Amino acid sequence: MNEIRLHNTFTNALEALHPVHPGQVRIYTCGPTVYASAHIGNFRTFMFQDILRRFLRARGYSVLQVMNVTDVDDRIIQSAAAAGVGIREYTDKYIHAFLEDIDALHIEMPEELVRATDHIEDMVALIEKLQQKGMTYTSDGSIYFRISKFPAYGKLSKIDVSGMQAGARVDVDQYEKENARDFALWKAPKAGEHFWETRIGPGRPGWHIECSAMAMKYLGDTLDIHTGGVDLAFPHHENEIAQSEAATGKTFVRTWLHAEHLIIEGQKMSKSLGNFYTLRDLFAKGHKPSTIRFLLLSVPYRRQLNFTEEGLLQARNSTERLRNFVTRLKAEQFPAGSNPEVERQIATAENDFDAGLSDDINTAMALAAVFDLVREANTAMDRGAFLQQNAPSAIAAMEKFDAVLALLVDDDEEKLRKLGIGLAKPRMSSEQIEGLIEERTAAKKRRDFKRSDEIRQKLADSGILIEDMKDGSIRWKYK
Ligand SMILES: [Zn+2]
Repeated sequence: MNEIRLHNTFTNALEALHPVHPGQVRIYTCGPTVYASAHIGNFRTFMFQDILRRFLRARGYSVLQVMNVTDVDDRIIQSAAAAGVGIREYTDKYIHAFLEDIDALHIEMPEELVRATDHIEDMVALIEKLQQKGMTYTSDGSIYFRISKFPAYGKLSKIDVSGMQAGARVDVDQYEKENARDFALWKAPKAGEHFWETRIGPGRPGWHIECSAMAMKYLGDTLDIHTGGVDLAFPHHENEIAQSEAATGKTFVRTWLHAEHLIIEGQKMSKSLGNFYTLRDLFAKGHKPSTIRFLLLSVPYRRQLNFTEEGLLQARNSTERLRNFVTRLKAEQFPAGSNPEVERQIATAENDFDAGLSDDINTAMALAAVFDLVREANTAMDRGAFLQQNAPSAIAAMEKFDAVLALLVDDDEEKLRKLGIGLAKPRMSSEQIEGLIEERTAAKKRRDFKRSDEIRQKLADSGILIEDMKDGSIRWKYK
């Protein structure tokens, strides 16, 4: 087995992984800010984290991953107010959509998916700790972190704050390096804004404090790995370090991993260019979940990913190639015996796959190992050199790879159906629907639940939702 080495943004070097708790890797991931649907660039980062955790588990570690859901911040407050609803109500639907999206992409759920607004008390306690240590000051009811009291400020993003004017403040959650200032831990309520009554006064948390509070609550004072998109290194992660280390006096994170941006056809993704895609936009264009998964995972996380139509086509073909190979392995009759040359190729592929992922999660290297094996084995099959006893080891190798890649199960249609996409079938007439509903009622009466479930599914497949009312009647509607 190869030593797992990861590129730590903090030291700008590859470092061997040595978890604080042997055998368990504790990871914190900055999750989505749920004021709109996540875009494909967000999923690039989430996909990288999925590969990371699947690989660590494949290597025998247990993983404890915490992902936050930012359900209170400047943009959410503005958007919810514009929509005339509370922030909880506003964010619920985007959280739901996010969960559906990650499920469609086979991205594993973190062990803990936690909402910021469920942890206000933890944030208040952390701010109190910082107050006791003299790291804060209050101005107009808002509480700020005093950067000059934390000399290590800037150590992750390598910014120089020596010339910064003492007491200069920034109130917005997101800002550029040029605006490095004392940042808000707690914001005084503005007219009409959602706020909490707390021991440190009325208001709401700044964005940065939520991650420090939730990360340390679930993972302890020192985390093994903290991940996020490269744009979060400053100010968000820099501020997380300042808050956490000022409070505990301990190293907050051992290894920082930052995923590079995704661009579309060589251009920065933006709404004004019309190349801003959510996952559902891509599904609606006919792209399969597995195709998108393949494309997102195929480029190593520290390299910019150029998301193109051509790349999607290749990703679809590559996924098909893997699936066809396994089908062939399982279905074809091979001559008796075992070819040691094939066994050697399988062993090489397994080692190269592991070596690639051990080298800072180099997915391109890992995929190359898999496709080398597919090519060699297919060639061997074509000339009769792939033998019966080779099939089980090749299948086992493909299953090992798939524990990390998660591409072989062909459930694209099912995933899309769950999202209500791809239902191009003609609509049933109301007579047909009512006929089926009657049949279902009769099936239920004779306790034939298998049949009644089948009918419900048949209706659902045709885009019909049925609802059992309390009075025993049944309502139906088109999805
Ligand atoms: Zn965060």
